[in-house]
Amino acid sequence: MSSKLRIMVPVKRAIDFAVKPRVNSAKTGVETAGVKFSINPFDDIAVEEAVKIKEAKKGAVESIHVVSAGSSKAQEVLRQSLAKGCDTSTLIDVGDASVEPLTVAKMLAKLAEEDKSNLIILGKQAIDDDSNHTGQMLAGLLNWPQVTAASKVDINESTGEVTVEHEVDGGFETVSASLPMIITTDLRLNTPRYATLPNIMKAKKKPLKTVKPADLGVDIAGRLETVSVSEPPPRPAGIKVNSVDELIAKLKERGAL
Ligand code: AMP
Repeated sequence: MSSKLRIMVPVKRAIDFAVKPRVNSAKTGVETAGVKFSINPFDDIAVEEAVKIKEAKKGAVESIHVVSAGSSKAQEVLRQSLAKGCDTSTLIDVGDASVEPLTVAKMLAKLAEEDKSNLIILGKQAIDDDSNHTGQMLAGLLNWPQVTAASKVDINESTGEVTVEHEVDGGFETVSASLPMIITTDLRLNTPRYATLPNIMKAKKKPLKTVKPADLGVDIAGRLETVSVSEPPPRPAGIKVNSVDELIAKLKERGAL
């Protein structure tokens, strides 16, 4: 491989996976006031994978650049990723706007070009919008090969060949491509580490740059309009039956048998 690995990891600040989301009163989205936010779980896995590659391939990784598009609050997830071993970070400050995957992908493409990234590891999906679009759109914009939902990544740093295993219906598929490339992470790829207190302190000194979408030449106006958001209909209450015969009769009554 002619040059070293320059890894970019895009991370999103999303509603914590343990929070049960509630639709807001205007029915335009989910309620965010007073709700706990964290790094999107798939992105934590992406950070872990980048750091593991850096640790395993001594000297082969030149930098890990973690990037988030969000409000100033997204600095938390950047600092957390720096504490886990990323080297530099960029906040794309979009204020309180919610940006669509294509917009995020365009901004990431610009940063990847500026930063000369040759491997981008994203989450397979953000658990708030569940789009599962950004990695694929980014691969399209950069015209790089991509493997989605990776469960195992193996890099040959001398040839730049990357072999990735990912889950397909009923089994696993193993594919390989040459850098530069895009990988999106699945849950079984690894178990993210916790940031230690000394590393959290050290991370405060690591670089955190802020840019605006306009600096990247991207207009963040959305193309989609959310017409309405609704909760799934409540499940009707169950009934108790006293015997197997009664159960069968009830199932027949409902056309289930
Ligand atoms: P999505 O296409 O929205 O499901 O997101 C897929 C992946 O794209 C996420 O797991 C992140 O790695 C990345 N991503 C999405 N939105 C953002 C954002 N606002 N900032 C940084 N990365 C993002």
